[in-house]
Amino acid sequence: MEINKIVLSQRDFFKTQQTKSLAFRKMYLEKLRSLIISHENFLYEAINKDFGKSKFDTFTTEISFILNDIDYYLKNLKSLAKPKKVSTNLVNQLGTSKIYSDPLGCVLVIGAWNYPYQLSLSPLIAAMAAGNCGILKPSEIAESTMKAMSKIINENFPSEYLYVYEGGIDETTTLLQLKFDKIFFTGSTKIGKIIYKAAAEHLTPVVLELGGKSPAIVTKDANLEIAAKRIVWGKFLNAGQTCVAPDYLLVEDTIQEQFLEMLRKYIKESNYEEGSTSYTRIINSKNFHRLVNLINKEKIYFGGSYDEEKLYIEPTIFNTIEWEDDIMQEEIFGPLLPVIGFKNFNVALNTILELEKPLAAYLFTNNNEQKKLFTDKLSFGGGCINDTVMHLSNDHLPFGGVGNSGIGNYHGKYGFEAFSHQKAVLEKATWGEPNIKYPPYSEKKLNWIKKIL
Ligand code: NAD
Repeated sequence: MEINKIVLSQRDFFKTQQTKSLAFRKMYLEKLRSLIISHENFLYEAINKDFGKSKFDTFTTEISFILNDIDYYLKNLKSLAKPKKVSTNLVNQLGTSKIYSDPLGCVLVIGAWNYPYQLSLSPLIAAMAAGNCGILKPSEIAESTMKAMSKIINENFPSEYLYVYEGGIDETTTLLQLKFDKIFFTGSTKIGKIIYKAAAEHLTPVVLELGGKSPAIVTKDANLEIAAKRIVWGKFLNAGQTCVAPDYLLVEDTIQEQFLEMLRKYIKESNYEEGSTSYTRIINSKNFHRLVNLINKEKIYFGGSYDEEKLYIEPTIFNTIEWEDDIMQEEIFGPLLPVIGFKNFNVALNTILELEKPLAAYLFTNNNEQKKLFTDKLSFGGGCINDTVMHLSNDHLPFGGVGNSGIGNYHGKYGFEAFSHQKAVLEKATWGEPNIKYPPYSEKKLNWIKKIL
């Protein structure tokens, strides 16, 4: 069936009110849960084909996230969907005020390739929990995972409720001409702008989960061993193809040499060799060449080797980096880690403040004053003190960017809210109506109104 007909069928289906019932939402969330479990190996095989991602990484960073999301919504659906009673102001007495979380209708989720299951299915699950119909357009760049999701969903769910539309730029452009009630996009800032413009044509609200250059700062007051271990893990997970990976490091001058040595040690211990099941390939040759072009041999502190046939790039650290270097101009999105030294913590923060607001920021220190300055001064989507990446695993925290790194957020109750409209309803009693607000007006009525308001 043509995609516009499927979208129209979803609109019609939404109007039947069926998706609003909690029993309906639960039934399909449970169905998706059991399909993911019964297709676990199929999902591992597809992602391994796309970019050599291991079972371990796929379970910890994709499957467990999705199952966790489903369980969260199954457990909390009743309280999330329940109308919330709020207080009623004096002029509206005797009345009650409630906020209803209304499903939006037919939503579009556009995914990215780097965590293809998590970034496609987590928003879709939030949309289902909130009572919507949805179209998912996964990234065509991770082709096998796109086909795996399309097979699982399209063979098991009615298309007037959920549908996976396979395709790339042309198909997304077609989709963007249609009217949706929300567009949830994960991807680059450049394409995010195209999505935002297209959505504006229909006044469609958006969530844009974008990228950027996320800094990690290490001061002399940090537990350096822990900092090195956590930075190496967060940076080289998925071969650096993680939106919240530390993009670059700012390290206090006095500890730089010592800290670089520790980074080297943890990279070696982690076994990121070619062919290792602890490491991932670069997604395709276009990204491989983009990354290889950023390798300035004169500035390599560690690593620097690569293999085009295997799409392998060794974890590589650069020192003596300057802000003007090519590697500092755009999000790296690969296993290359530039390190810049700093003398003064405040100056380092001020330098970050001059740049676009990042999706994530990380600080390693045990100095409380520095922690306070970091959280008070910098604007970033989310981040950690003394860790990397892990903030997104806490579904009590909203996940999203700010400024160039995105609009809106999701995870846990924030995902539910992202796909709901907060409908305000005031219910009034039908007895005891004072005449004070009604014409004819008088000075006396105005004086009363002034007292009440
Ligand atoms: P991308 O922007 O190239 O593609 C994302 C999606 O947009 C894909 O589904 C693709 O088919 C579609 N698309 C591509 N070009 C298009 C066009 N011209 N018109 C319409 N649609 C188009 O991003 P990517 O390469 O898949 O992912 C990498 C980027 O995503 C990085 O910047 C990364 O930081 C960001 N990212 C952000 C998050 C987050 O949660 N904030 C998560 C992962 C990735």
